[in-house]
Amino acid sequence: MRPVHAHAAQAPKSPLAPFNFDMAAPSPAGVVVRVLSCGLCHSDLHMLDNDWACTTYPFVPGHEVVGVVEEVGAAVTHLRKGDRVGVGWQRSSCGCCDDCVRGEESLCDANRALIIGHHGGFADFVEVDARFAFKLPEGIDTNDAGPLLCGGITVYSALRHAGIGPGKRVGVIGLGGLGHLAVRFASALGCHTTVFTTSPDKVAEAGEHGAHDAIVARDTEWEREPSAKLDIILNTASAPVKFDRYVNALASDGTLSLVGVGAGKVVVPFSPLMAKRRRVMASPIGGTVMIREMLRVADTLGVRPQTELFPMSEANAAFDKLRANKVRYRAVLTR
Ligand SMILES: [Zn+2]
Ligand SMILES: [Zn+2]
Repeated sequence: MRPVHAHAAQAPKSPLAPFNFDMAAPSPAGVVVRVLSCGLCHSDLHMLDNDWACTTYPFVPGHEVVGVVEEVGAAVTHLRKGDRVGVGWQRSSCGCCDDCVRGEESLCDANRALIIGHHGGFADFVEVDARFAFKLPEGIDTNDAGPLLCGGITVYSALRHAGIGPGKRVGVIGLGGLGHLAVRFASALGCHTTVFTTSPDKVAEAGEHGAHDAIVARDTEWEREPSAKLDIILNTASAPVKFDRYVNALASDGTLSLVGVGAGKVVVPFSPLMAKRRRVMASPIGGTVMIREMLRVADTLGVRPQTELFPMSEANAAFDKLRANKVRYRAVLTR
């Protein structure tokens, strides 16, 4: 048994407090990672508050983990003690269904989340199936890698499955933890990128992330139209959005791609969807193949999150700032 020092909530919406537990040796396919840093994601907040009615307490948050391999299971051959790895939302899957075999493990019926029924990365150590511990490119700093592993892969996979490529015109609704990463990936990949934001003060910020245009837009109240129709519009907003005008802003065969949580029911007008053969899709995180690709792309093209660092001992301050929507744009807890 390995003694682990963690930060846990004992009840919904309660502050985190020190929490110790014993971790068993890894399973044959498992790996134990010594945590160096861990990003804080909106899903941690939803889990802390038990918004999805699946939280178990004591609850140890954290699913944007960066660390060093401490111990490998007997059957693990691709990782060694000392490797620097990242772990995101997913900790295991069945390994043998069609989705798993094609590297789309996040779609597996038996996919398991790191922080559902399992302790997350606000701790000295985490344990996962070794397939979900990803070796990190040397060029990506430890404190930058965490947010790529949930926020980054969420927007990257959604954009890839919506057909992103050089020269495409991409709209991003919302400039927050997910949105700023979407803008950075899309612009780095050679797209013309337009931000839709409800905050006039974020128009200037959009350019700093590489956006080519930014439009103040609240549901159907838009400051103006984009200069051309968009091939992809990615919704990263956490508040409900009226999509009517966005569907009309799509080019023929354009895709409205939805990520994040809290969308509730998606209502889109049928006629403009059909007339231009537009599509609506929603996308969860991404599988192992897409995560590896995303890390290579981030490394090669220099895509990084904008982070605010907090010592792990100040996890509650980070949660408070996230709850107040004041984080620019991803909080990362360091040890
Ligand atoms: Zn997340
Ligand atoms: Zn599977």
